[in-house]
Amino acid sequence: MKIYNSLSREIEEFVPYDKNLVKIYTCGPTVYNFAHIGNLRCYIMEDILVRTLMYNGYNVKRVMNVTDVGHLSDDSDYGDDKMLKGAKREHKSVLEIAKFYKDAFFNDLKKLNILKPDVIENATDCISNFIHAIEILLKKGFAYHAGGNIYFDTSKLKKYHVFFNFKQEDLEIAVRDEVSQDEYKRNPNDFVLWFTKSKFDNQALKWDSPWGVGYPGWHIECSCIAMKHLGEHVDIHCGGIGNTFPHHTNEIAQSEAILGHEWCKYWMHVLHLHTKDGKMSKSKGEFLTLDVLTNKGINPCEYRFFCLQSHYRKQLVFSDEIVQNAAHSYKKLKNRILQLKDDEEVNKLDFERYKQSFIDAINDDLNTSMALTILFNLLKDQSVNNSTKLKLIEDFDKVLALDLLAPISNSKEEIQVSISSDEIKDLIKQRNIAKSNKDYKLADSIREQLLNAGIKLIDTPNGTIYEKQ
Ligand SMILES: [Zn+2]
Repeated sequence: MKIYNSLSREIEEFVPYDKNLVKIYTCGPTVYNFAHIGNLRCYIMEDILVRTLMYNGYNVKRVMNVTDVGHLSDDSDYGDDKMLKGAKREHKSVLEIAKFYKDAFFNDLKKLNILKPDVIENATDCISNFIHAIEILLKKGFAYHAGGNIYFDTSKLKKYHVFFNFKQEDLEIAVRDEVSQDEYKRNPNDFVLWFTKSKFDNQALKWDSPWGVGYPGWHIECSCIAMKHLGEHVDIHCGGIGNTFPHHTNEIAQSEAILGHEWCKYWMHVLHLHTKDGKMSKSKGEFLTLDVLTNKGINPCEYRFFCLQSHYRKQLVFSDEIVQNAAHSYKKLKNRILQLKDDEEVNKLDFERYKQSFIDAINDDLNTSMALTILFNLLKDQSVNNSTKLKLIEDFDKVLALDLLAPISNSKEEIQVSISSDEIKDLIKQRNIAKSNKDYKLADSIREQLLNAGIKLIDTPNGTIYEKQ
């Protein structure tokens, strides 16, 4: 199987370090808000990678971190304490916030037929691992104390820039744009491994360390969690293209400084989801979550189908119209499949011929749009009998995971099952807070979200009650 390696910038034949087990690391979510559908595109394509490896007969171990440490959603010394902000917004403790959005995230993954990673690790459960790794970096001379923090010294590396053809000046500009100037850094690209001097008032979560009470930098989190569960070699590290610099660059710097050898051979990056106005993000424009999509009448499988129509290394443009078109062709596809009757002998030759074309497509750097074309061609092909078609569709769906053979379901019912009374009460609370902040748009969207899940809110003089429809 061939995959594009962001490190070599070439399509390469995939050869795992240990032929019996492919080790994959995925940067997980920061749990202070819902995931937007741009983030979810990335996890869908990573799921295609995992499923393709399994389809090729590999055993796979996949590890994902959950960033629940505090503000660490961007570069480690940049931005607001987003967890604390989320907690204030919703009158909860930061750990309650983390738990709530972590559950919401994995609920989204489940709805999208994304296989659960084998290991899901909270950053807050690995503080001693981070401290140990920083101690090694200090001992080996790759880190230094300054102004109360511990920094990684990028000048000690033979090579720092690994992805793309970045020039040093470009990187310095990128760093300057994102990070407020830090007078204690010896080199512009140095980054914090451990903070004791927080830039944020009331930093919510802090831990004791040999260097004082503080909290870890973001990059060290992924290096340590990967090493804890996958050992000294990772085969494929995945993430969104936005993670290449500085996050993945810094992960490589730290990990290889600790290990003294190459850490991860293949890097896979998924391109952004764009709207007409540019890159989709939490802070810009309409905040599109999976629930918002469901409100628009698009079910999770239809969104997955929309993503698979294009290659993961191409930007995907989202608009209501484009995604509605995808949903329409998904429904047509399902209807055609459901009309097929399994009443003949499977023709082995036809089966093998189509299976081979499907393998060739999916093994060619996960060419999902070609794989879908093969599926459509199969349906049109009158020389192949229905039972063979059904057997092939069942086989293709091991990778595509589009519920191709499942009866057409009512997405409302699915959601009704998945929403608990605690979640309903929680959303009512959030809506009340939104109303008291005069954020009627948010309040209405929560009401609609619940309505879509079959929960009707009734405002009474004694507060809001709900009934199931
Ligand atoms: Zn990461």
